[in-house]
Amino acid sequence: MQNQFIEHADAAENFIKDEPRTDWHDETLWFVRQKRDLAVNKIPEWEELREFASKIKDHSLSNLDNYLLEFERNAQNNGIQVHWALDAKEHNSIILDIIKKNNVSKIVKSKSMLTEECHLNEFLQENKIEIVDTDLGEWIVQLRKETPSHIVLPAIHLKKEDVGETFHQNLGTQKGLTDPKELTEIARDYLREKFLSAELAITGVNFAIAETGGFVVCTNEGNADMGVHLADIHIACMGFEKIIPKLNHLSVFLRLLARSATGQPITTYSSHFHKPRVGQQMHIIIVDNGRSNQLARPDFRNSLKCIRCAACFNTCPVYRRSGGHSYHNAVAGPIGSILAPNINMRENADLPFASTLCGSCSNVCPVKIDIHQQLWKWRQVLMEEGHGKSSKKIGMQLLNLIFTKPKIYRLVGWIGRMIMKKLPFSISNSLNPWYKQREMPEVPKNSFREWYLKNKK
Ligand code: SF4
Repeated sequence: MQNQFIEHADAAENFIKDEPRTDWHDETLWFVRQKRDLAVNKIPEWEELREFASKIKDHSLSNLDNYLLEFERNAQNNGIQVHWALDAKEHNSIILDIIKKNNVSKIVKSKSMLTEECHLNEFLQENKIEIVDTDLGEWIVQLRKETPSHIVLPAIHLKKEDVGETFHQNLGTQKGLTDPKELTEIARDYLREKFLSAELAITGVNFAIAETGGFVVCTNEGNADMGVHLADIHIACMGFEKIIPKLNHLSVFLRLLARSATGQPITTYSSHFHKPRVGQQMHIIIVDNGRSNQLARPDFRNSLKCIRCAACFNTCPVYRRSGGHSYHNAVAGPIGSILAPNINMRENADLPFASTLCGSCSNVCPVKIDIHQQLWKWRQVLMEEGHGKSSKKIGMQLLNLIFTKPKIYRLVGWIGRMIMKKLPFSISNSLNPWYKQREMPEVPKNSFREWYLKNKK
């Protein structure tokens, strides 16, 4: 199910081969970004909210030991069983244990990027356990054996024609169906049956409140609620950074989250879970999986403030025109490119380079993460740690030589102009990928220096 690892630039090159799809992907996400702007501009205190949210997260991250333990205590007093997982492996085996202990075979899951990060679906399938994703977009990508390409809109890379074909191939529906209403009805019928028969429901956690021991799950489809209310067991999975100190703080984040994500004033279902209903088991798994390492890196600590709204995805010119699968990581986009190298520097060394560093991501981030600064910082760390490509290193050393030695600079400029004039074919080949997608500038007759020396009087 996991995409085979292809570097971002190569995967992006594949994605943009389909020009109409690239344009449509770009425009659709830009539309979401504009909806965000309209919603944000209606809130005069928006900047104060961002500042406040950023400070609450700062404070929470600095006092995680206290707040997580306070949360555990209160949750246990409410009858919730709390588990701690050091990594993805432990997270998955805790879930498998609960499944086996309770002899469960039917599981539904609402959207949780943490379970994607831990590759839970693949793990359960290897253990011959069926799990059905119930978020519509996530279910569609599950049928296609793909991963979500966006954390809020998991199937945003697909058109309704693709969905019709996916249903035809997997569910035997009529070929050529493209009407969104009909397609949704088909999904509703299929998923309704899964909800009614599910014995266990897995959800993510958007916010866990230390003061109450309760947690909040936000969805637009109500699928988390449907799963949890019908199943006898609820497992909620959270990265430890989801903790906030007080119930009072929740409104700050709920106001920021939906507006930043889709331009809605509030997510349709912001459901509070405090204790299991009579006869139900409720578990919460608090996961580290590399977060402690990130917390210990002063330059990247702030990335743990992320509330997964995806505003940075929708505004990013690189994400919009390269698609989420190019990032070969559960969380794609600008924030994914900061989180991924923390988990595996070597495998994800390409991601911080998948950015123009324009700063648009940092401008829209509701919790004020300095995203583009961190991407730039990762580039430096990766080069220092020896994960940069040797071609890039050699290129940089060459540029250093050229830019620091005026005579070499002038000579290289002259050679460059000659090559561009005499051998125009030589600049559009695999040695020079920059020009594959770009128009050539006209070659100047002289260098600026020559022009200046001639014209300075
Ligand atoms: S980094 Fe900021 S903008 Fe990006 S998903 Fe996280 S909270 Fe949203």
